[in-house]
Amino acid sequence: MKILVTNDDGVSADGLWILVRELANIAEVVVVAPDREQSAAGTAVTLWEPLRIRKVQPVVHGVETYAVEGTPSDSVLLALGSLIKGKVDLVVSGINWGLNLGDDIYISGTVSAALQGYLHGCPALAVSAERDSEPGFQIAARLVTMLAGRFNASPPADNLFLNINVPNVPLARIGRIQVTRLASESHINTVTEGNDGKRNYYWLVRQRQDGSQGRKTDVWAVDHGHISITPLFTSLPTRTLSALLNNLCSGLLEELTGSAV
Ligand code: MN
Repeated sequence: MKILVTNDDGVSADGLWILVRELANIAEVVVVAPDREQSAAGTAVTLWEPLRIRKVQPVVHGVETYAVEGTPSDSVLLALGSLIKGKVDLVVSGINWGLNLGDDIYISGTVSAALQGYLHGCPALAVSAERDSEPGFQIAARLVTMLAGRFNASPPADNLFLNINVPNVPLARIGRIQVTRLASESHINTVTEGNDGKRNYYWLVRQRQDGSQGRKTDVWAVDHGHISITPLFTSLPTRTLSALLNNLCSGLLEELTGSAV
């Protein structure tokens, strides 16, 4: 099984390598990621200048790794269009440092990179964990590795595109793995103004709202200690998708808990 791993936090981000360390146990992993932090780069692609790539030393031994002077979407386009020969079985973007929930997915570089995988016919996972969450990153890495194993054993009927978010909760206190829908909420919702002594300046501020989202949303699930899995674009009928996701998630939390070391 061949897996492309990318992200928007940059090729040396801890979250990416926590994930690769786990995935490399079960698959051939190739890392193609931006050479620097590109969070909130959204779906941007570089069309008006050439792109350059450097092969870099991997953090996990033996993993072919490239740093791209471009956006997360550029990285996936280059990986699938040129760098990786042969079929890619899965594209994983993350593990992002910070949750990607609700309307914020539309500016997320993490989700956009996975979107390029999906648009190119690969099953794609965007994966995020709550900031500074030591357990969250490990749980996310193991969960994705289990999902990859399930995909390998039985490839999904249609190309799946899932957005996965893991709260900052120890494994023993994770409530469940909940299939959710996106909340109608962005937490980049405030502009603060100031003056640096010469000019006015403005910050777009990230501020979570009051948590009044419905129980079926990703925001609610993560706020209540559950792992959220949100299917994004799909051509599948609702009922088929729902059966597929139930099947995919069946026994997953038990397997995850059982794998704890
Ligand atoms: Mn990021």
